[in-house]
Amino acid sequence: MNVTFACSECDQTTRQDIESTTLAVVCTSCQHSIPITRAGQAGSRDAGNRDAGNSGDAGDGSDTGEADNAMQRCLVCGCRELYVRKDFSQRLGLTIVVAAMVLSSITWGFHWRYATYGILFFAALIDVALYFGVGNLLQCYRCRAEYRGLAGLEEREAFSLETHEKFRQQAARLAEADAASAKPVVKSTPPTP
Ligand SMILES: [Zn+2]
Ligand SMILES: [Zn+2]
Repeated sequence: MNVTFACSECDQTTRQDIESTTLAVVCTSCQHSIPITRAGQAGSRDAGNRDAGNSGDAGDGSDTGEADNAMQRCLVCGCRELYVRKDFSQRLGLTIVVAAMVLSSITWGFHWRYATYGILFFAALIDVALYFGVGNLLQCYRCRAEYRGLAGLEEREAFSLETHEKFRQQAARLAEADAASAKPVVKSTPPTP
């Protein structure tokens, strides 16, 4: 599989192949590196943290399954909430719709009725073909990292607006706290007589 992520240090986007032997996710721009802890190795590697960090694992007992299926958390930020979506560029979809609207309004202006219908039908056909032709990807709610080439994605949860909103508000609060702490403390001292 491979991961596409925005580096938390430099904001540059990196796509990296992840094999079973890959030890870290590394930004190609600033070389910022995030070590990978795999689900199967978590027990032996950080046995000390097990009680603190893995309390949610008690229910799934999923040590079986392939490495891809075992990916229960984001490799980039460690978030456990991931969702499946179509690997479809919304910008491309929108470009097709807008292009069809512009072209068909021109042909409509010339009273070329069949050309107009043809353009609209063709645009709809491209969108449908793209939708069914593209595969799925797994995306992290928190850092928006995208994972492609994973097996068993059909069984993963789809996008939930509620969870998305939870992370959006969390991010907003963090940004607010950051801004507050970054502000220089200015004391307004009254002029002394
Ligand atoms: Zn970076
Ligand atoms: Zn993430």
